[in-house]
Amino acid sequence: MIKFGFHIPISGGITKMPFRARELECQTIQIFSRNPRGWKYSPLRKNEIEQVRKDIESFKIDPLFIHMPYLPNPASLDKSIYKRSIDSMIEEVKRAESLKAGYVNVHIGKKMDAGLEQGLKRVIQALNTVMDRTKNSFVTLLVENTAGQGSEIGNLFEHIGFIKAGIENKNRFSVCLDTAHLFAAGYDLRARDSIRKTFQEFERYIGWEYLKCIHYNDSKSHLGSRVDRHDHIGKGKIGQEGMKNIMTYKKLSHLPFILETPKDTDQDDRMNLETVKSFQNASLWE
Ligand SMILES: [Zn+2]
Repeated sequence: MIKFGFHIPISGGITKMPFRARELECQTIQIFSRNPRGWKYSPLRKNEIEQVRKDIESFKIDPLFIHMPYLPNPASLDKSIYKRSIDSMIEEVKRAESLKAGYVNVHIGKKMDAGLEQGLKRVIQALNTVMDRTKNSFVTLLVENTAGQGSEIGNLFEHIGFIKAGIENKNRFSVCLDTAHLFAAGYDLRARDSIRKTFQEFERYIGWEYLKCIHYNDSKSHLGSRVDRHDHIGKGKIGQEGMKNIMTYKKLSHLPFILETPKDTDQDDRMNLETVKSFQNASLWE
């Protein structure tokens, strides 16, 4: 059966998170290990870590993904931001390790004043540095495609393929595809033949073996709009049929699907959960 889960908030204390996940019937989850809106963080306490690990295990939630906070930008030419970005990636790798999370989800970033290639090269250098400075870690860096909003890079498979080519330790490099970002970046995911075509292109530039996670979101913005706005499953521009086609595409069915859908009311997660469950038992297509 297809594994899915939500991005689960850790507000009110990280130890509450596994129970929220169980409530939403998650078999896999993504979290921020700290407040994602600042540079500062406080260390996770040992008793918290132990509690979370124990609950995650007993609720059979696997894998656990840690998402990077918002401010780091490894594509930046600004020395101070670049350095802080590397430091916070290293910190997240360590926190992931203590929580036994196999992946740290990294946004490729914004090139700002840099050229595209220059920005991508910065990212390569940053990821290599992080891997080098956490040499014995089992944690993999999970690079996520962007919508290409503003000066964001990493919206095209070519960009991610370029990054991959520069990574020294490819065993610790993996890719997460966000369906809302793909759609906004111009990859149509509504009809089956366009899904097939999109993933053929993914295979050409990156390779199936690197794909480890799907961020399963509908999109409020149009195909190719380069505007990053997530929507409820089936309520956006990808739509009910498109979202169902994505989840039931056989080549993706072994992957964890993480929902980063809006949480405007208390009912939103429930609603999306019911939609996804209705897709879960539908037959797969090739
Ligand atoms: Zn995402």
